[in-house]
Amino acid sequence: MSTKKVAVVTGGNRGLGFEASRQLAKKGYKVILTSRDAAKGKAAAQQLQSEGLDVISHPLDVTSDDSNRKLAEFIHQQFGKLDVLVNNAGIYIDNQAGGNSVFNAKIDTLQQTIDSNVYGPLRVTQALIPLMKEQNYGRIVNVSSGMGQLNDMEEGSPAYRISKTALNALTRIFASELKGTNILVNSVCPGWVKTDMGGSEAPRTPEQGVDTIVWLATTPDGGATGGFFRDRQPIDW
Ligand code: NDP
Repeated sequence: MSTKKVAVVTGGNRGLGFEASRQLAKKGYKVILTSRDAAKGKAAAQQLQSEGLDVISHPLDVTSDDSNRKLAEFIHQQFGKLDVLVNNAGIYIDNQAGGNSVFNAKIDTLQQTIDSNVYGPLRVTQALIPLMKEQNYGRIVNVSSGMGQLNDMEEGSPAYRISKTALNALTRIFASELKGTNILVNSVCPGWVKTDMGGSEAPRTPEQGVDTIVWLATTPDGGATGGFFRDRQPIDW
């Protein structure tokens, strides 16, 4: 078993996932930066290695059972455990001609978005949770969005909003089933961040965006579980 804490980040080749990989490695974690495009993941990991960080890459398409199984086998063989999982990979598809109206939402857009943003984190967690249960330690961070909040409906793609609301529900269900263990599960809204998804107008840098992600990933024993956080504060569902 590795003595270093081992972290997996999904969608690590760019944006928030790339920065979360960097910041976790800076905190002393061995980071497995995963990417659905193996070459992009390798290049991203090489960039972080050139900064002196302990980061390796591994392919992972969160929508593929086979890909998830291969990642779990790799971690089992190499490290025998997993300490941190950041479910970061996600997609946002504009509703195009339908605007932001849920009444015009295309069902295939919904299905595609939910497959990536909800079933994706569910599949990854199902594949990797045995590696946490075995050692009774784990921190799972689901990268959600304020667009999933039910109390303060923001504008945006209805498929994306529904997917993030469902991801928050999944967080609560995971946490409830893991009650009494040292595996803590939380959701986070990173704020509006300058990435390919967030666009150039976004006020936050990726480094600011990942602050709460990394804070939750490194929560001490007895810390929060089943929560939704922004800027290190609990927020409404
Ligand atoms: P980007 O679009 O910049 O990056 C998304 C990442 O997810 C890419 O690495 C992409 O891979 C990956 N990805 C998408 N689908 C899959 C898949 N099936 N399997 C594996 N990887 C996949 O987005 P951000 O970095 O901005 O977003 C990261 C997370 O933060 C998302 O969950 C997003 O919803 C959330 N978020 C972002 C906000 C923002 O303002 N930026 C605000 C609130 C939440 P590839 O390069 O191959 O496409």
